[in-house]
Amino acid sequence: MFKDEKAVVVFSGGQDSTTCLFWAMQQFEEVVAVTFNYNQKHITEIECAKNITEELGIKHHILDMSLLNQLAPNALTRDDIEIKEGAGGELPSTFVPGRNLLFMSFAGVLASQINAKHIVTGVCETDFSGYPDCKDIFIKSLNVTLNLSMDEQFVIHTPLMWIDKAKTWELADNLGVLDFVRDKTLTCYNGIIANGCGECPACILRQKGLKEYLAKREER
Ligand code: ZN
Repeated sequence: MFKDEKAVVVFSGGQDSTTCLFWAMQQFEEVVAVTFNYNQKHITEIECAKNITEELGIKHHILDMSLLNQLAPNALTRDDIEIKEGAGGELPSTFVPGRNLLFMSFAGVLASQINAKHIVTGVCETDFSGYPDCKDIFIKSLNVTLNLSMDEQFVIHTPLMWIDKAKTWELADNLGVLDFVRDKTLTCYNGIIANGCGECPACILRQKGLKEYLAKREER
């Protein structure tokens, strides 16, 4: 679809961004992955991202974003902050203010440096916990801002924006990588690879989607 072009994929080693990485490999001539280290509690997350890109032979940049944790301590980086879902319109304790703004901006700087026009991110408005920086309107607004700030013509791609977790599994299956994504990615807030702890909100969402998709596939 975009042959001869280069893309930067914002990559965490989780289900969503790994599916996006495979999507991008199908769409673009050259794919480069970028992972942000913001002192996640589970260093496994970075290791997992590293292993995947190594296995796929993808160039991988790991950028130090520890200043984010310095400014905004949160449940993903601190053991003493409990992971809880937001009640009564509140954001969950896993929300990190400014995270995607910073990550996408740095992805833009990298893209500019390596002459990549495309930036791919696995953000999704459908299934998410209401994170404002996962919304389509934020991504569109940031796309304009990045272009203006660097005099570039970036195109930000969000293949998962309007699909739920079951459909994300379906996309992985259509790309021929369902088992890869199932076995080698880390979504769990407790740092357990593949099927995870089964109890945290991320695991519950991932398992529910997989169950739904596999049931749907059975019916065919
Ligand atoms: Zn878990």
